[in-house]
Amino acid sequence: MSKRKTAVVTGGAGFLGSHLCDKLLANDISVICVDNLLTGSLQNISHLFGNDHFKFIKHDVTNFTHIPGDVDFVLHFASPASPIDYLELPIQTLKVGSLGTHKALGLAKDKNAVFLLASTSEVYGDPEIHPQPEDYWGNVNPVGPRGVYDEAKRFAEAMTMAYNRFHHVDTRIARIFNTYGPRMRLDDGRALPAFVSQALTGKNITVFGDGTQTRSFCYVDDLIDGIFKLLMSDETNPINIGNPAEITIAEFAEEIIRITGSKSRIVFKPLPVDDPKVRQPDIKKAQELLGWEPRISREEGLKTTIEFFKKQLAIS
Ligand code: NAD
Ligand code: UDP
Repeated sequence: MSKRKTAVVTGGAGFLGSHLCDKLLANDISVICVDNLLTGSLQNISHLFGNDHFKFIKHDVTNFTHIPGDVDFVLHFASPASPIDYLELPIQTLKVGSLGTHKALGLAKDKNAVFLLASTSEVYGDPEIHPQPEDYWGNVNPVGPRGVYDEAKRFAEAMTMAYNRFHHVDTRIARIFNTYGPRMRLDDGRALPAFVSQALTGKNITVFGDGTQTRSFCYVDDLIDGIFKLLMSDETNPINIGNPAEITIAEFAEEIIRITGSKSRIVFKPLPVDDPKVRQPDIKKAQELLGWEPRISREEGLKTTIEFFKKQLAIS
């Protein structure tokens, strides 16, 4: 019988990281979750305490990270991810994307482990090519407020490729597009939790700008499935993982009002600086190289997510 493998998940107590821990454990891979709980929560992984194959280490991955024993995979998910979080935590965001990625890559090198970076569609900035293919280099303002996140992730991608080319670490880069689902924080400021909590509590729905900007939302189970397939592949170049179903933010607000049956009204607020005008993944590479594409419709994913938020708000 082959030996059970072990994965280190940085940021494993966050929204995506905790679903990733579940997926790895479900595939008989032991998990060491490393998180400093900056934007994550023990609640996201509380169901895993007591599982002999799961370990939690409270640690800031911008510092040297020691993990005893064999490690087969390092999945680097640690980073504030919502615009509100990274605008409030600009230095931590830059540090975890740069120093944290360096430490996580160093760990992978030391353990001869496969490394996977959680990168982002934000590397394309406010894109001039639509939809965005992986060979588009992006349009990022380095000195704007979003630069702390976008440039940290662009640096992280460059560092990952350098470890691949120079140290021959076996690496993967997932460019993750907007993802939603249970365990998102109600107050993380992203459009979906903001709109759903506003709709469920009868508050005005705050659409920024004129609402014509677009996003393409992927349900978390689909996303994690894509990440797992990428991890198990031998694809070193960046791969977009996201759902190409594009919608304007104003239409998205109306959709949430309809599905929740809310009486909330839409109000328009100023558009944040450098807010991308369009975003839609080109997923041809993921389809061809990983045999992956999303399966869960927005309607279905939204219904499950709304039920989760209702429980959080204690609404029956
Ligand atoms: P999240 O905030 O829920 O999770 C991030 C986790 O990282 C948190 O648990 C936080 O405590 C931890 N963390 C932050 N700094 C750390 C540090 N220095 N040391 C240890 N732990 C640290 O965010 P998320 O939505 O789950 O995003 C996870 C990853 O996926 C991030 O790298 C993010 O950039 C990327 N991503 C997410 C999305 C999305 O739509 N959710 C889109 C693109 C990319
Ligand atoms: N947005 C909005 N109202 C909100 C929060 C966000 O209109 O209360 C807009 C935001 O300006 C952006 C889109 O919704 O155009 C998606 O924002 P989000 O923060 O979810 O993620 P982003 O894709 O910008 O990282």
